[in-house]
Amino acid sequence: MTDGSAHVLILGGTTQARQLAETLAQRPAFRVTTSFAGRVAHLRTPVGDVRVGGFGGPAGMAAWLREHRVSTVIDATHPFAVEISANAARAAAATGVTLFALRRPGWHAGPGDQWHGAADLADAATRLPALGRRVFLTTGRLGLAAFAGLDGLHFLVRSVEAPEPPLPRRTEVLLDRGPYTVEGETALLRAHTIDVLVTKDSGGPATAAKLTAARDLGLPVVVVRRPPPPSGVSVVPDVAGALARLGRPGPGVSRGAAGTCP
Ligand code: NAP
Repeated sequence: MTDGSAHVLILGGTTQARQLAETLAQRPAFRVTTSFAGRVAHLRTPVGDVRVGGFGGPAGMAAWLREHRVSTVIDATHPFAVEISANAARAAAATGVTLFALRRPGWHAGPGDQWHGAADLADAATRLPALGRRVFLTTGRLGLAAFAGLDGLHFLVRSVEAPEPPLPRRTEVLLDRGPYTVEGETALLRAHTIDVLVTKDSGGPATAAKLTAARDLGLPVVVVRRPPPPSGVSVVPDVAGALARLGRPGPGVSRGAAGTCP
């Protein structure tokens, strides 16, 4: 940058991305842009510059990185957003820009938890009939077609924006974005007589309120395991880790000199 600050591109869409933008904005050494996919109508706009919409694949992102003289990309997207993470790895490799990922650690079952690991949403769907009849589905608004064939089950789907069809025949939608409390989640599970919960392993510093509520009520939980980050991309667990990583020189995932995207 002309003022000597380093341009950091945060790939956003998570609470951690917003917190990171806030923290970096207080440091004159950095200029921050947060990028959003543009899927949510009402964005919680972070501090710093914002861009919205896809880059047009890895080549498009590489072009953006060059044009805006980005020195570091921090992939702070949701751990299940695999396409943008893969694109970032390829764009960073093509441009020589440093890349690392900010990912909240995954959740771990504790005493009293009845968790059933699933490889993906389709696997989660196959496990449900043996576990319950009234399902609290909290995996987001996309990919619910995986559950669409389960006509015998009742689904309470909670998402920030309306889920995309096809949906299961017996679906009730609850639009909400949290934050949630154990008391609130317990009351919700009781009010809807839920007997099984489905969640992605989105992770976080503490166990999510819904998981604690399910454990307290003795309910089984299907936990969809998170995909690994792209090979070679280093991961930090929190904003403090990202700050420490930014302070260290190093190429991150960059492999070789700037070039064209494969
Ligand atoms: P995805 O499948 O990994 O990405 C699909 C495409 O959307 C990407 O190829 C890219 O388009 C564009 N895109 C995604 N994130 C972007 C970003 N931050 N900035 C610019 N373009 C982006 O992503 P997804 O799973 O649909 O998630 C979309 C966004 O929602 C992510 O930013 C993620 O952090 C957030 N989110 C996802 C989940 C989830 O469960 N997947 C949950 C909560 C929040 P181009 O190829 O054109 O660049």
